[in-house]
Amino acid sequence: MAPTTLENAFSKDSSSTAIIVPSNPARTISYQTLSADVKAFQQKLSKLGVSAESAVSIALPNSYEFIVSFIAVSWQRAIAAPLNPAYKQSEFEFYIDDLSSAVALVPKGAFAQDAAAVRAARKYKAAIAECYYNGNEVVLDVRETGKLASKGSQTIESAQPDDIALVLHTSGTTGRPKAVPLTHRNLLRTMKNIQATYQLTPEDRTMLVMPLFHVHGLLAGFLAPLASGGSVVVPLKFSASEFWKNFVQYKANWYTAVPTIHQILLKNPPPNRKPQIRFIRSCSSPLSPKTFHELEKTFGAPVLEAYAMTETAHQMTSNPLPPGKRMPGGVGIGQGVEIKILDQDGKEVPQGKEAEICVRGENVTKGYLNNPAANASSFTKEGFFRTGDQGKKDPDGYIIITGRIKELINKGGEKISPIELDNVIAQNPAVAEAVSFALEDEIYGQEVGVAVVVKDGQELNAEDLKTWMAEKVAKFKLPKKVYFTDIMPKTATGKVQRRLVAEAMIKKEQ
Ligand code: ATP
Ligand code: MG
Repeated sequence: MAPTTLENAFSKDSSSTAIIVPSNPARTISYQTLSADVKAFQQKLSKLGVSAESAVSIALPNSYEFIVSFIAVSWQRAIAAPLNPAYKQSEFEFYIDDLSSAVALVPKGAFAQDAAAVRAARKYKAAIAECYYNGNEVVLDVRETGKLASKGSQTIESAQPDDIALVLHTSGTTGRPKAVPLTHRNLLRTMKNIQATYQLTPEDRTMLVMPLFHVHGLLAGFLAPLASGGSVVVPLKFSASEFWKNFVQYKANWYTAVPTIHQILLKNPPPNRKPQIRFIRSCSSPLSPKTFHELEKTFGAPVLEAYAMTETAHQMTSNPLPPGKRMPGGVGIGQGVEIKILDQDGKEVPQGKEAEICVRGENVTKGYLNNPAANASSFTKEGFFRTGDQGKKDPDGYIIITGRIKELINKGGEKISPIELDNVIAQNPAVAEAVSFALEDEIYGQEVGVAVVVKDGQELNAEDLKTWMAEKVAKFKLPKKVYFTDIMPKTATGKVQRRLVAEAMIKKEQ
């Protein structure tokens, strides 16, 4: 029978490898061992009082203990809420408060350091436990029992398909982060979609690069590979110098990452032996055609750009494996989901015309937590979710994203796609990176601003860039202002937030 919850999504008795942790010495963990460790951890959670619908904040770095605790929480019918362990206290407070988390899992030593997560959990009376692998088992060292103290249920629950398994917040690119509940059904749908798109098998091994506190790492880098019976190499964090060494040593054959990481890897290519890479997946931010071509040429593997968001439990579309067509600058086709380009009234626009990308499928969240206003405006009558992204379909049905509706630059009524400008400017030989954004303007309402990182050893001034651009784009799209910067501000997952780039550039100038 096809699995319907995370409880039966993985093989439990296979002796084949599930996880490799490249510590010293490296650890290889079979599916059997993983399942036994999860079961044992689930019992510890239930003794602590974690039961159906308890929210458990997991403030752990990428690690075996993250993986075991995440699966155990979901098997216990509770709700996993992974959090970036690098958050500051006010950020932990926001997320722990938003979900009324009953428990916070923190790394070993967090108590001794009086870490930000500990202080925040204490403020909201969450139970706090240090969670770590001691060489033998994953330990749940309960330091404070918080509000769970009185209601220890001591029962092992069994998850149901429509139980919420995970709550993640959106990245907050266009406003305050929104809490997105995702059910077992949502997650399993995406796991199947990813498995089918990339034809993942037990032979495949991925190198986890992306953090597990976002849908990208969680679904594409961990859950989908395990559901396919394959294996995952789990380094503590991404390291450009260790990446290829580990990739070759542990015989990985694919990875998924954001464009920023691909760019770092292009600057740090494999030292000697070229790894055998079946495919490289790119997702979560626009991949410029330039980087697409450089990646394919340098690493000799097909690059498959995908399109995803938190609300759709990650993947909506992807470019297919060869011999399917790969389109640089395009995010491919839907698999296991319906994608339509709809106008304001929810009517489908003709092929080639730009409007809002909308999606419907089993992977889509039922709605944000405690946010009726966003829920009312996010779904069409037919149940399509409005992504907030603008795009169009090519004749083969491939989706091309032209920008976020909220980030389109509206120059006196002319809508300018910032992604289009980024891609054009990135082709300038002196440019390492470019991010375009809206600037407030007295005459036009909005004008074009661009932040540019110039390549080492190259020179470029604003006038030269504009003259060069004038050959490539219409005059009204030329930037009013070019800001030169040494580093481009990014989020923890390497995403560009145009609003923040604009703020940083304006502030720097003052
Ligand atoms: P918020 O919803 O809080 O404003 P966010 O939309 O950045 O933040 P996420 O759910 O992490 O939060 O990101 C989803 C968004 O990322 C998509 O709506 C889209 O704008 C962008 N995105 C994802 N993949 C791609 C891609 N391949 N190319 C361009 N943009 C992408
Ligand atoms: Mg969003």
